[in-house]
Amino acid sequence: MKIKFLGAARTVTGSCFVIETDKTRFAIDCGMHQGSNQIEKRNLEITPYEPKKIEFFIITHAHIDHSGLLPRMVQNGFHGPIYATEPTGDLLKILLLDSAHIQEVEATGRNKRLQRSGMKADAAPLYMTKDAEAVMPLVKTRKYDEMFSPAPGISIRFQDAGHILGAAIVELFIEENGETVKLVFSGDIGRPNQLLMKDPSSVHQADFLFMESTYGNRNHKGEQESLEELAEAVRYSYNNGEKVIIPAFAVERTQEILYSLHLLMREGKLPKDMPVYLDSPLAIKATEIFRRFKSYLDRETQILLRAGEDPLRLPNLKMSTSTADSIRINETQEPAIVISASGMCNAGRIKHHLRHNLWRPGASVVFVGFQAEGTPGRKIVDGAKNIRIFNEDIAVAAKVFTINGFSAHAGQNQLLEWLKDFQTKDMQVFLVHGELSAQEHLASLIRDQFGLTVTIPEYLEEIQLKTGRQFEEFKVPAAATTGVNLPPLFADLKTKLDDVSGKMGKLQTLSASQQAEIAELIKQAAVNIDRIKNRS
Ligand SMILES: [Zn+2]
Ligand SMILES: [Zn+2]
Repeated sequence: MKIKFLGAARTVTGSCFVIETDKTRFAIDCGMHQGSNQIEKRNLEITPYEPKKIEFFIITHAHIDHSGLLPRMVQNGFHGPIYATEPTGDLLKILLLDSAHIQEVEATGRNKRLQRSGMKADAAPLYMTKDAEAVMPLVKTRKYDEMFSPAPGISIRFQDAGHILGAAIVELFIEENGETVKLVFSGDIGRPNQLLMKDPSSVHQADFLFMESTYGNRNHKGEQESLEELAEAVRYSYNNGEKVIIPAFAVERTQEILYSLHLLMREGKLPKDMPVYLDSPLAIKATEIFRRFKSYLDRETQILLRAGEDPLRLPNLKMSTSTADSIRINETQEPAIVISASGMCNAGRIKHHLRHNLWRPGASVVFVGFQAEGTPGRKIVDGAKNIRIFNEDIAVAAKVFTINGFSAHAGQNQLLEWLKDFQTKDMQVFLVHGELSAQEHLASLIRDQFGLTVTIPEYLEEIQLKTGRQFEEFKVPAAATTGVNLPPLFADLKTKLDDVSGKMGKLQTLSASQQAEIAELIKQAAVNIDRIKNRS
């Protein structure tokens, strides 16, 4: 069989693995590519997917980086079934409609800009609401642990990945030429002890494992420590009469933050006169879906619910559904907590809250989720002094908190712990869904601790798998043959560096604060150079 990596290869977003056997062609996940312009261009390149030739999709979970291109597939001729768990089916409905709405709004914005600059307004959205709606009738739900066979020679079983509501690990049995090969796609692996979610299920056997590696190079802080940090942000901005802005993914992270605020309230660390705004219609709908699937929540939550305590409800929680509600939040001067989407600050209402608060000393911005390269969220986390929002430069004066203990992803040690449960000695591991530096780190730990073969596939790489054999590289990614001409860019950078180093004497005469700013810029440049070095 052949496998083509169409996303989440040496990057986090765009998960999609197309599998071709002698009888069928199908794909695991269909994620949107998110991040830099270079990466997002991949959303337009539909040819490698060949949607008309995909017989069915298996979706591990509803996050857009795993499902966001489904409408685009349907728009381009895919009409087969889409298999997912029941909660994933419900979450897909709200997430894909929201995604289509974002695409439409962005295209309208682009067209307005084109018109103003005297150009033809011909920007089209990636897909529209009708395309997202066309996905829904194709979704077929399956339960955890239930074996099903979507095509001849293919058997599949979902296991709880403990990541978000309904997230699955996919066990895939492929029978070819009288032999059965087992592939496991980890999907996104949850963090054990996560609020609301059960711990990820153990899997014991696989010939080939495709494993996520988002946090392959770091561990998360403890849960208690993360709660303390959240309490500190609340205290800081409350004492300064300012707001706490929390960019959060609508699904799971928002609910986990609500739960955490509920815990802080129980400890008396959430001031009674500090309202909490849930400013995201999508997050409000997602919270309702969490309530609907109680049996998917962990034991601790179910005990609380049975005792009549709803951890997703706060006495001072205000849901803002309309745009007017949202605008009103920024007209008030009182201290408040605002939870809004998108989680990486690249779309949605959160951009308005950042524009109103990021420049205010005393305010705070609390990052509680992964920030992909190239997103405004990542820039703020990396220490940018200014951020461009709605074509305006906004200074970063608010206190920035990065709390990674709320992650819905397993940290490095937790990934290795999950891997320990596999009993197959000659299993081959492919690391996906991670940035290269994190993947290389994790790969070397896996080789050292388990003696397994680890490969880090590239975008558009195609491989051939056979049991008990080393995989054979089938086709090198097209990116390698039609690459960007890098040497002139590098020569230009060198000239600029020489130019600046000639001016060092003059720079040393500037004020202390200006020098500190320059030091910060140099550090950021060094980080980027290191990133390039790590890829060579
Ligand atoms: Zn996910
Ligand atoms: Zn993901």
